[in-house]
Amino acid sequence: MTTPLRTQLAAQLAILTLPAFKDNYLWLIHDGSNAAIVDPGDAAPVKAALAAHKLRLTAILLTHHHADHIGGVPGLLQDWDVPVFGPRNDGIALVTHPLGEGERIGVPGLDLALDVVDVPGHTLGHIAYVRRAPGRDAGANWLFCGDTLFGAGCGRLFEGTPQQMMASLGKLAALPDDTLVYCAHEYTLSNLRFAQAVEPGNAALDARVRADGAQREAGLPTIPSTVGLERATNPFLRHDEARIVQSLVEAGRLMPGGAPVDVFAALREWKNTF
Ligand code: ZN
Ligand code: FE
Repeated sequence: MTTPLRTQLAAQLAILTLPAFKDNYLWLIHDGSNAAIVDPGDAAPVKAALAAHKLRLTAILLTHHHADHIGGVPGLLQDWDVPVFGPRNDGIALVTHPLGEGERIGVPGLDLALDVVDVPGHTLGHIAYVRRAPGRDAGANWLFCGDTLFGAGCGRLFEGTPQQMMASLGKLAALPDDTLVYCAHEYTLSNLRFAQAVEPGNAALDARVRADGAQREAGLPTIPSTVGLERATNPFLRHDEARIVQSLVEAGRLMPGGAPVDVFAALREWKNTF
């Protein structure tokens, strides 16, 4: 008796960046035949990309209920009868496969497993999707985090508390450094201006300002970033840094000796009006 050999070659997965609206990114994951779309706020760019690349839509993945992330779902469902994965607790009527912390999905049509992480803060039911690649291929760990973690920033607290957002970001920051961060907006340069104001002297941050500035000058996205780069430059993952605490105290936004959550809350409030 022989063990059946698993000869099927896993098709290489790629991700297409679909800009939408003013500064959204929709992420189209595909293997050359089938495709899944993350946070389709608008159907038109997705339909155009599917047609241009001769792809069949096999799944829709949602992170949270805001219109710029789900608005294109009805239009896509008109053309494609596909499952809609999304948060269990974010009040999205279109979701056919509700998900929450600790669940793992096999994305229909693709050789892709994603783990679900609850990341309340921007909205209360917000989830993120994590691909933990089995091998050691560079760039094979992925995070789709919607409006939770941004390039050098984080989402606004529309529904959750600073405590919740801090814990959510902590989970994402604990992912491997090489994890590619596919967030839903191009906010990086304005976030970096704030980051430099609160943490002057961070050499990694200065290098990122140069690199991402050049990227935007060339008309290119700054996303995906990596978890490692965010840990080194994103003030919302660095609220325990003495220099950041000092900046908040000097600005009169924090009492000396504040708890970590006070530091985080003061940072988020300052950014709201920066
Ligand atoms: Zn949002
Ligand atoms: Fe958004």
